[in-house]
Amino acid sequence: MAFLETRALTASYGDFQALFGVDIALEAGETIAIIGANGAGKTTLLRSITGILRNGADQVLFDGKPIGTASPPEIVRHGIAMVPEGRRLFPSLTVEENLLIGRYGRKAEGLWNLDTVYDLFPVLRQRRNSPGTALSGGQQQMVAIGRALMSNPRVLLCDEISLGLAPVIIRDIYAAFPRIRQSGAAIVVVEQDIGQALKVADRVYCMMEGRVTLSGKPADLSRDAIHNAYFGTA
Ligand code: ATP
Repeated sequence: MAFLETRALTASYGDFQALFGVDIALEAGETIAIIGANGAGKTTLLRSITGILRNGADQVLFDGKPIGTASPPEIVRHGIAMVPEGRRLFPSLTVEENLLIGRYGRKAEGLWNLDTVYDLFPVLRQRRNSPGTALSGGQQQMVAIGRALMSNPRVLLCDEISLGLAPVIIRDIYAAFPRIRQSGAAIVVVEQDIGQALKVADRVYCMMEGRVTLSGKPADLSRDAIHNAYFGTA
């Protein structure tokens, strides 16, 4: 059994069904990427794992336990932390206060604390007393990642962290991922940037219209297969 698993996961917004039987498996210490076009269901998959959308109990399993009906605070206590799309910093709080928010709800021992997060992203140490809104988009993304790490998560879920950032900034942010992996966290990145996803992930899942259309190790996936799974064209 995988560390984190979805089994025949379905999700709907009212009458609109967004996921149709999604099976994803994440092994301990592994990094997987979920790729797919706008509206494929990637964010909905993450919302289902984090308890924002409720599921059948057995549709999400973590460490062998059904967590499909758990609430977001319970999910955080289990050790699953989310870096949300759009960063969602608290604008009136400083960088350091935003990072400390990540401690609420889960007081787990582990590598991550203010010092080690500042070592990971040194620019945040310099900006520790600045309000979150005074930062560049890339720095805000670093705060959002640092805030999630502060809970010493067992699984880190990242939703479109490269969205709207310049390539050089995206590279800087992904340069931190080997150290995040070394801390023992398993990682799920949702990415529209296919090249970045193939670089960072041990395995990739491609979604289209609420279904997984392709999965495998980057080295085993041809460009054509990814193109077909992503766009649905031959
Ligand atoms: P994006 O890159 O745009 O975030 P995505 O792959 O993450 O795309 P989702 O956001 O999961 O896709 O959306 C999947 C489907 O569910 C889309 O058709 C979208 O319009 C729909 N959807 C998402 N959120 C809601 C909502 N709150 N209410 C109704 N429909 C929604």
